[in-house]
Amino acid sequence: MSLKFPIYMDYQATTPMDPRVHEEMNPYFDEKFGNAASRNHSFGWEAEKAVDDAREKLAAVIGADPREIIFTSGATESDNMALKGVAEMYKKKGNHIITSAIEHKAIIDSAKRLETWGFDVTYIEPPENGITTAEMVEDAMRDDTILVSIMAANNEVGVLNPIAEIGALCRGRGILFHTDATQGYGKIPIDVDEMNIDLLSASAHKVYGPKGVGLIYVRRRRPRVRLSAIIDGGGHERGMRSGTLNVSGIVGFGKAAELCMEEMEEENIRLTNLRDKFKATMFESLDEVYVNGHETNRLSGNLNLSFPYVEGESLIMGLSDVAVSSGSACTSASLEPSYVLKAMGRGDELAHSSIRYGFGRFSTEEEIDYVAEKTTGIVNRLREMSPLYEMVKEGVDLSKVEWQSH
Ligand SMILES: *Cc1c(COP(=O)(O)O)cnc(C)c1O
Repeated sequence: MSLKFPIYMDYQATTPMDPRVHEEMNPYFDEKFGNAASRNHSFGWEAEKAVDDAREKLAAVIGADPREIIFTSGATESDNMALKGVAEMYKKKGNHIITSAIEHKAIIDSAKRLETWGFDVTYIEPPENGITTAEMVEDAMRDDTILVSIMAANNEVGVLNPIAEIGALCRGRGILFHTDATQGYGKIPIDVDEMNIDLLSASAHKVYGPKGVGLIYVRRRRPRVRLSAIIDGGGHERGMRSGTLNVSGIVGFGKAAELCMEEMEEENIRLTNLRDKFKATMFESLDEVYVNGHETNRLSGNLNLSFPYVEGESLIMGLSDVAVSSGSACTSASLEPSYVLKAMGRGDELAHSSIRYGFGRFSTEEEIDYVAEKTTGIVNRLREMSPLYEMVKEGVDLSKVEWQSH
């Protein structure tokens, strides 16, 4: 098979839709156009049936009851609902929320909003391996803690958190536990009962489904979780999220989830092998390269690497026929290193030179070989031009150098 350019290697940002998902959705754009809330005729019943089928498939992925699945516009909305909805509903019970400093912005910025509403938020800073342990969560707990929100898998460094242990801890203390499982849903085994999860966010476009549709799991019993709605209206979705359902999107999400479940085990083995081969090539051909986040306790489709003495942005420019993500977010004027890597204690040198490689269902061995070779070539070339790298090779200890500022 010949390579097709550009090569997509950014599967944590979004995934291409699986053609089987597309096919399943097609009829719901035209002939089956009913409103799932129309109770008086067959157009409505047909749409409602399709939504119910999808709801069942989506609940099965996490061992939930279909009635516990609430459809949203995506995980950003689900995360907002979990934090703001719980905070408002349980504010008489307490004022304190725990999350981590390396959550997705949908969580961090919702938590920041809650601070402006008068809530106290603790942002746990995980150590260099990126893992937030139950012990760290326990240390942050207070008598007035009402919610803990810790992600299942990190979108930048791919690290997996001990969700079951954190869930058990929270349940024991009577504190609600939300997990942003957007990167883990359909990719790693999750069971809301076994893991004592009360709320969970997921999104279709991270699992080979369409963009603009997501879900929030809201536990119905033991304990029954209540949420204040953010979007009010016709009382859809148990009153928690009004608005006409995105029937075609939901059908696609359901099909995407079903495919993920069928292929999860095999896919994880395949991706782990691809990733390990990719990593081995990098480590063989380069003398300084670092893995960001835990070496093995991570998503099979993620490898986040730092190449010191090379600017992430220069590297990305060199990799112009490959779609990858740099740890630096280029804001208007300054080049800010990733807040995730900084919170994990990575210094500026490593944070600035990081690249996230994301693999997935349509990644091939040829692509991986090509990108590994291309990356090592560019890193070596950029380093040849780097005075810093030359100094290091000559044995200069950079930490002892006194820099002249201008
Ligand atoms: C992508 C992502 C989100 C946001 O999901 P959308 O559906 O794009 O709004 C939230 N959390 C994590 C961990 C993600 O990876």
